[in-house]
Amino acid sequence: MKQACVIGWPVAHSRSPAIHGYWLTRYAIDGRYTKRAVPPQELEAFLASLAAEGFVGCNVTLPHKEAALLCAEVREASATAVGAANTLWLDERGRLSAANTDTYGYMTYLALEAPDWSRRDAPVCVLGAGGAACAIIYGFLEAGVGEVRLFNRSAQRAEALAARFGPRVKVYPWEQRSRASTEAAVLVNTTAVGLKGNGTLDIDFTDFHPDCIVSDIVYVPLATGLIREARRHGLRTVDGLGMLLHQAVPGFERWFGVRPEVTVELYDRIAADIEAA
Ligand code: NAP
Repeated sequence: MKQACVIGWPVAHSRSPAIHGYWLTRYAIDGRYTKRAVPPQELEAFLASLAAEGFVGCNVTLPHKEAALLCAEVREASATAVGAANTLWLDERGRLSAANTDTYGYMTYLALEAPDWSRRDAPVCVLGAGGAACAIIYGFLEAGVGEVRLFNRSAQRAEALAARFGPRVKVYPWEQRSRASTEAAVLVNTTAVGLKGNGTLDIDFTDFHPDCIVSDIVYVPLATGLIREARRHGLRTVDGLGMLLHQAVPGFERWFGVRPEVTVELYDRIAADIEAA
């Protein structure tokens, strides 16, 4: 039986077991996917003993994403570009291999929900400059976006992130996040604001282009304050749950040999779990 897990510190909140468990049942695979709480000082030893522990690979959540990349022998471009790994597996030679599938998850769901998002030649606006922002900016630049406007509470962190990517990423003051986003093709929140109703981003959508897509990668609650406010102004929205589901696809395929489908049933099941939380 093949086994994979998600590691983090803490890890109790992770919905990955529910996602992978759904697919294991759906495809009648003799496999298991569990949670393992791994403290930072034990990460290297745990990853070195992955095979001995009976695992074919694992997902990596906070705070291990950067350290996990450094532990890997083989690094996919997706992980190197973002400087963090969320998916690990042992390759045919037993080498620990790393990918970052957040970019894939975000861009895949955006393309499914708003296939025309890039139709207008307009900037993309990103709120936040953490690990998730890095993965998403990389995705937009790979997709050929000409200008990414980056807004972050701490300007220093925004400047550091922009410097990784070059002149197509421009830093704007946090205070200008509404005014400098009115022409955006996509506005995406990658900050933790809105998580479980924690604060509000205070975006004024009044003058926004009617075709702007508003997306929030926070998925607890499913309809964040930002999403609700955008809808109130008649704008199309993309929630954060789809990214979570799609980022899980490449890992499942690596570990269990089947490319799984993100079904409506899976979406509804995890959405119900979020709403009940
Ligand atoms: P991170 O590296 O810790 O970055 C956090 C970001 O949030 C920073 O830009 C930080 O700004 C900003 N922030 C936090 N509190 C703020 C506040 N009160 N006002 C303004 N900005 C604030 O975290 P991350 O890994 O990028 O994750 C960010 C969020 O995305 C989390 O909520 C996470 O759950 C979610 N996420 C979702 C998915 C998905 O699949 N849907 C995947 C990854 C992450 P400063 O730099 O100024 O502190």
